Amino acid sequence: MNHSTGTLYIVSAPSGAGKTSLVKALLDAQPDTQRSIRLSVSHTTRAMRPGEENGVNYHFVDRAEFVRMIEHGDFLEQAEVFGNLYGTSQSALQQTLDQGHDLILEIDWQGAQQVRKLMPDARSIFILPPTQQALRQRLTNRGQDSDEIIDGRMREAVSEMSHFDEYDYLVINDDFATALDDLKAIFRANTLLKASQQGRYSELLGQLLA
Ligand code: 5GP
Repeated sequence: MNHSTGTLYIVSAPSGAGKTSLVKALLDAQPDTQRSIRLSVSHTTRAMRPGEENGVNYHFVDRAEFVRMIEHGDFLEQAEVFGNLYGTSQSALQQTLDQGHDLILEIDWQGAQQVRKLMPDARSIFILPPTQQALRQRLTNRGQDSDEIIDGRMREAVSEMSHFDEYDYLVINDDFATALDDLKAIFRANTLLKASQQGRYSELLGQLLA
């Protein structure tokens, strides 16, 4: 029986580092076991992008609703990123962890700082691009934006990356498969920590020491 509590993971990255694709690949690759990794769905006031789905990528709400949620104390953390509000709602979070699932928050450095204070056992991972040039390339490939817009995104990316030092793990996304392996290794190693294993294998440990 699994009596252990799941681990909360914070994953941050500058836009264009491949965070969302890596996390999706990590979730898709996991074996169908009791202790699965779940992804927290944030609330945001930003407009839905093509291909996004309400309740799947985000809970899309207007500013008034978001402010109401802040006033009700619904958020574990919340921050303004590029002029839009983003927040992690409390309600599902603790329940998911208590069920023994690991939970990933894909949030920015401001949210990460707030979560670390409230949940000091959270593990945090920062994903970096291999070079500035590669990042610029990835930001350029995204659409038909002007140099000015790309320059702005680069500045925002550098500002986000300046917080790498606050994180427990750094993953460099040069080769996707290698970065995914690195990410998997972090999650796997954490499940093997004594505190987790002790809860999971209390019966076995009792038998071994009898
Ligand atoms: P995007 O709008 O491109 O999906 O996300 C923009 C930024 O907002 C990313 O850095 C992303 O990690 C961050 N973000 C997404 N959800 C949350 C959240 O719930 N809280 C915080 N603090 N940041 C978030």
